[in-house]
Amino acid sequence: MGKNQIRDRCAACTFQRRRCWPECPLAPFFPPDRREDFEAVSQIFGASNFIKLIKSAKPHQQVLAAESLITEAKARVADPIFGLSGTVNNLFCHLKDLRSELVLIKQQKEMPCRRNTLQYKKVGSSSSPSADTLSVEVSIPSTSLQQLGELDDCHLPAPSVNKSCGACRYKKKKCLLQCPFSPFFPLNKMGDFENVVKVFSAEKFLKLIKLAGPLQQLAADSMIFEANTRISYPVLVVVGIVETLSQHLDDLTSELASIKQQNRFHLASGAS
Ligand SMILES: [Zn+2]
Ligand SMILES: [Zn+2]
Repeated sequence: MGKNQIRDRCAACTFQRRRCWPECPLAPFFPPDRREDFEAVSQIFGASNFIKLIKSAKPHQQVLAAESLITEAKARVADPIFGLSGTVNNLFCHLKDLRSELVLIKQQKEMPCRRNTLQYKKVGSSSSPSADTLSVEVSIPSTSLQQLGELDDCHLPAPSVNKSCGACRYKKKKCLLQCPFSPFFPLNKMGDFENVVKVFSAEKFLKLIKLAGPLQQLAADSMIFEANTRISYPVLVVVGIVETLSQHLDDLTSELASIKQQNRFHLASGAS
């Protein structure tokens, strides 16, 4: 009974147990076989935020924006503390190591300064992406990357003691003693809170950081980083950073390998 109708519903409407209308805004992104993806998105961003965030991208970029949201949501479900930022952090540390090794090896040569200036190179699976979409120069705020670089130190900053926090200031509310936001949003971080509301919502933020147990501060930092990045670069965001860092890592690894090979060659020919 009703089997055909169920088969026609998108994964989002199936999950939300409702009828999938022809104009369902979620259907293009969640065909029936992507139920798990929708569950993750629903848990992390919520369906209405998802739709709002997709609509903030240009029509031809909406599929990319959706895929990056799905990837980030699944990463946070799998890792409530770092989410996809954890991958960024690992790649970033690896890059730092490789760079120091390269600097040592090429002490006399000038290193091009690529730090914090990343370029989206490869995107999704589309073979001939339009230049307009993809050649976006991205400068990641160095403070965010520094924070990420320090995430693995597990130093929990002392909760800030403010008369009002950035969250309560944004909400134009009195900041009470037990305000759950004040440890994460000091007064000068109102902008961070605004972005977190737009991307995750305040309720989801509190719910999700609780999943990180004693490491709530780290979870909050990585969520703030992801929210700020998504508001600044609504299409590829952290997924784009991961791809860019991976690309740099590949480039550096092969550069290092070829220099080492050359050095070995010079040593060998010098010795003979
Ligand atoms: Zn639907
Ligand atoms: Zn407050």
